[in-house]
Amino acid sequence: MNCYHCGGNHTRKHGKTGNGKQRYKCGECGRSFREDPCAPGYPETAKERILRAYQERVSLRGLTRMFGVSRNTVTQWLKKKPEACPP
Ligand SMILES: [Zn+2]
Repeated sequence: MNCYHCGGNHTRKHGKTGNGKQRYKCGECGRSFREDPCAPGYPETAKERILRAYQERVSLRGLTRMFGVSRNTVTQWLKKKPEACPP
């Protein structure tokens, strides 16, 4: 688990959020963050699976058909860096 703020991997578990998500605290920059802050309402595993399929050269249209995810959503995931997320 890498820190969303500085990318460091000295993170440890830091309790849970109100909705049961794991929280982490970074030992390098000292900030805390949630698991998967960029995908509100979208399960992290699904997102990972979709992005992995994309890396294996599945077309955006194919992803739409296979996972029912919109092209725009995938494009945003590909463009957006975690640091750019709103808090
Ligand atoms: Zn950090």
